Amino acid sequence: MGPGELTARGGTAEYQRDRRRLVEHLRTRGVRDLGLLHAFDTVPRHLFVPEVLRGRAYEDIPLPIGAGQTISSPTIHALSIECAGVRAGQRVLEVGTGAGFQTALLATLGAEVYSIERVASLHEGAARALARVGVEAHLMLGDGSLGWPERAPFHAIIVGAATARPPAALLEQLAEGGRMIVPVGGRRQELYRYTRRGEDISHEKLTRVRFVPLIEETRRGGGRGRGR
Ligand code: SAM
Repeated sequence: MGPGELTARGGTAEYQRDRRRLVEHLRTRGVRDLGLLHAFDTVPRHLFVPEVLRGRAYEDIPLPIGAGQTISSPTIHALSIECAGVRAGQRVLEVGTGAGFQTALLATLGAEVYSIERVASLHEGAARALARVGVEAHLMLGDGSLGWPERAPFHAIIVGAATARPPAALLEQLAEGGRMIVPVGGRRQELYRYTRRGEDISHEKLTRVRFVPLIEETRRGGGRGRGR
């Protein structure tokens, strides 16, 4: 391998330094979960953003990923995953795969990840990026607001796009004690956590956010895929 070339997983020394700085930054923002910090230290975010933006991959900012969509900022990913209480061995549903970076964080934490994306080019790009970094996840092309009933219930559901109200199908697919993180609102949005206890579902407001809208369709899109 020549100087400056990327390895499949770790990247160049420069990217590794940037990644370490990002982890320190997340610590200062209050992220305490060691497994999650390790996942940020391990997953090469630069391989999930367009090549021209790789130099900015380890800044704590959202970045465009094509099709008018964005990869959320590392702080938002950390907050969502921590507040969902994701642990190794849990079954997690992600709505809005996007570039697949959060998918990779969840899988690196040891979760069994199911992720749905409605834009075919992003679904395919995420499958390629996940295969490149050697992360396994179950990917589907389609409308994530319907959830993945065949694989339910889920210990955690993380929705990456904003909705006027949390989709009923997703709340139904939460396991006992399961938590769903979802941005709710239009121009003004708040991140919410919904928690199932028996037939009761409680909710709490976490913080103000800004996400792209969740596009709900009436039927599923094309086929299923599997990241390797
Ligand atoms: N989860 C990724 C992340 O955190 O970086 C992507 C977040 S991006 C802000 C939101 C993604 O949700 C986009 O890729 C968009 O295409 C997708 N999306 C919007 N509505 C959807 C739906 N109904 N089903 C599945 N994906 C959807």
